[in-house]
Amino acid sequence: MSGDVIELAGVSRVHPGGVAALSEVDLRIGYGELVAVLGPSGSGKSTMLHLMGTLDQPTSGSVRIDGRDVSTLTDRQLSALRAHRIGFVFQQFHLTAGMPVLDNVADGLLYAGVPLRQRRRRAEDALRRVGLGHRLGHRPHELSGGERQRVAIARAVVGEPAVLLADEPTGNLDSVAGASVLALLRSLHERGTTVVVITHDQQVAAGLARQVVLRDGHVVHDSGRAPAVPA
Ligand code: ADP
Ligand code: MG
Repeated sequence: MSGDVIELAGVSRVHPGGVAALSEVDLRIGYGELVAVLGPSGSGKSTMLHLMGTLDQPTSGSVRIDGRDVSTLTDRQLSALRAHRIGFVFQQFHLTAGMPVLDNVADGLLYAGVPLRQRRRRAEDALRRVGLGHRLGHRPHELSGGERQRVAIARAVVGEPAVLLADEPTGNLDSVAGASVLALLRSLHERGTTVVVITHDQQVAAGLARQVVLRDGHVVHDSGRAPAVPA
């Protein structure tokens, strides 16, 4: 697909209490990019991710996903957009305790209206892709942190979203597990998913194709669009 998967134009977000978390941000992310959003704690990274994921709306400016201005969409259309086009990964994994990994991942298709049997089959495929095909029946507490995050990534990509938004995905992991999660995100990118990784870690950002740096709610640096990965 040509054009941009995400476009922020003049986006500001003032949180309740008057905190200007993002100010006049212009950013376009094209299909197939691998982007790091880097900045210190409090610089507005999570606010930006919520806006890109249509979990929040800007105070001013516009957010477009697949070229559609999200402010023109109904709640139902926004839910559909998230279910079909966007996958989320968070630092805290957000897996359901006590539920087998297979069902945790299958739940990623709940809002896409996929029947249960097909959800399970696709969940198994996604778990194989993240190297956890041998852990389908395990509960989250029976897995390492790195494995849990790979489950969370499987859940985020089971619906084959256009864009994967990851907020500090390696933040709770040691460096070895963190490196394997990053390698997994890179391999998903190589298979065509647009990946946006939010991080405060310079080293994590340096390993990705494009770096956007936030400070006090402003984009202070953008290394720009990297050349397309050869097929
Ligand atoms: P980062 O992810 O880079 O640490 P955030 O986007 O979480 O930054 O926060 C940016 C600023 O906005 C911070 O000052 C934070 O305290 C504030 N903030 C974030 N979310 C809210 C909220 N829901 N209500 C009020 N202030 C918020
Ligand atoms: Mg944050």
